[in-house]
Amino acid sequence: MGIAEWRGQLQRGEVSARELTDQLLSRIEAVEPTVHAYLEVTAERARADADRIDAARVAGEELPPLAGVPLAIKDNLCTAGIRTTCSSRMLEHFVPPYESTVTERLWGAGAVLLGKTNLDEFAMGSSTETSYFGPSRNPWNPERVPGGSSGGSSAAVAAGECLAALGSDTGGSIRQPASFCGVVGLKPTYGRVSRYGLVAFASSLDQVGPFTTSVADAAELLQVIAGADPRDATCLKAPVPDYRAALSQPVKGLRVGLVRECFEAEGLAPEVKASVLAAAAQLEALGCELVEVSCPRFNDGIATYYVIAPSEASANLARYDGVKYGHRAEGAGSLAEMTARSRAEGFGDEVQRRILIGTYALSAGYVDAYYKKAQQVRTLIRRDFDRAFEGVDVLLTPTSPTTAFRFGAHAEDPLAMYLADLLTIPANMAGLPAISLPCGFDGEGLPIGLQLITGVLQEERLLQVAHHYEQAAKVLASRPAAALVP
Ligand code: GLN
Repeated sequence: MGIAEWRGQLQRGEVSARELTDQLLSRIEAVEPTVHAYLEVTAERARADADRIDAARVAGEELPPLAGVPLAIKDNLCTAGIRTTCSSRMLEHFVPPYESTVTERLWGAGAVLLGKTNLDEFAMGSSTETSYFGPSRNPWNPERVPGGSSGGSSAAVAAGECLAALGSDTGGSIRQPASFCGVVGLKPTYGRVSRYGLVAFASSLDQVGPFTTSVADAAELLQVIAGADPRDATCLKAPVPDYRAALSQPVKGLRVGLVRECFEAEGLAPEVKASVLAAAAQLEALGCELVEVSCPRFNDGIATYYVIAPSEASANLARYDGVKYGHRAEGAGSLAEMTARSRAEGFGDEVQRRILIGTYALSAGYVDAYYKKAQQVRTLIRRDFDRAFEGVDVLLTPTSPTTAFRFGAHAEDPLAMYLADLLTIPANMAGLPAISLPCGFDGEGLPIGLQLITGVLQEERLLQVAHHYEQAAKVLASRPAAALVP
């Protein structure tokens, strides 16, 4: 059920917010032993939130836009009084004293908090396998990963354990899991949505966005979370347009650019390529013009990202010193020993690997060769986009080179895991909005994702094209029978 449909049912008094919340809590109870999307379910709070909405409705008050919409929130967004762990032993017992701007806005709009979802530790990963609390499973096939790092949020939406969810995307962490789980995932323009209260990973890349079952619902959530925030200096002051109104604008005559390098990418599964090209053909049938474009620097995205993101992470994660936040090692003989042991015990392997890479890349003698060079290449990637958008309105690529892989598939080879982000990272590098939506299924019944990218602050255009494709293709209607967890 979509948000607009729910709003109608609630307003007409057909279903109460409490009933919907209770239904979802039962669903959570039934499928969580398989899916493990949630780290914590806030059942009591959810029921209380829902009861308040029902009382407001009965009293005849005007209902806010997300009244009674039950949501799941990635556990790297601070929720006051509710544990926020980042799936790390370091923050296992951390209870934030304050609320993130995005969640504050959601509760202000009447949404109901169902719980906090699993992620790769500190959002570093593409599968949820680096979570200290164990991985989530893909609802389409529990032997496959749900993607990451926001894999708990994508799995929760796909398994019907919430109406929608929030995640964060630094190098694909909303779009890649959305693609693996057959849901819609939107990464807004860098700065469109406040990062206040999002636990920082790589501050020049991090962006919060929604997971939903439809493009229209993504517009609904973006409408509420977007907009200026005095508490985040990087948050843009640009006015927030009416995203829902944009959906129905005609797409005829729009130019859609197929990025050649993304279709020639190493490791691109033939079924993924075929399905995404079929989606392009569908857009053509809707009156769009297909244009091939070249963005040669896209292929440098991963190498650039894995200098810049770890560098920023090494600085951001320096705050976990055993003194101010989180895990503290017992029985250390000195301050230095306490800090060193707290960090060694509190952080998992992948987080330690990123901190080491970042510290190395920023160290005297290397900072010019690595960090500065990476920033220069980042500019070149952005110029590729600028040039491409001179000739087209929207870019189209696969979201991920493959469908959901098996657990442990990349256990011995972190580089192979990094390649999963090949096609999603360029949009982060340039700060552009991008969306992933389902466009088909592979031979094993696993969802395939299509990625669309537009220019800075062109979320309206992005949602518009995505919505028209979704309405025409009806991909989920053709889903393999009985694929999802029962
Ligand atoms: N998978 C990428 C990484 O491991 C991206 C993560 C993200 O977007 N948070 O860094």
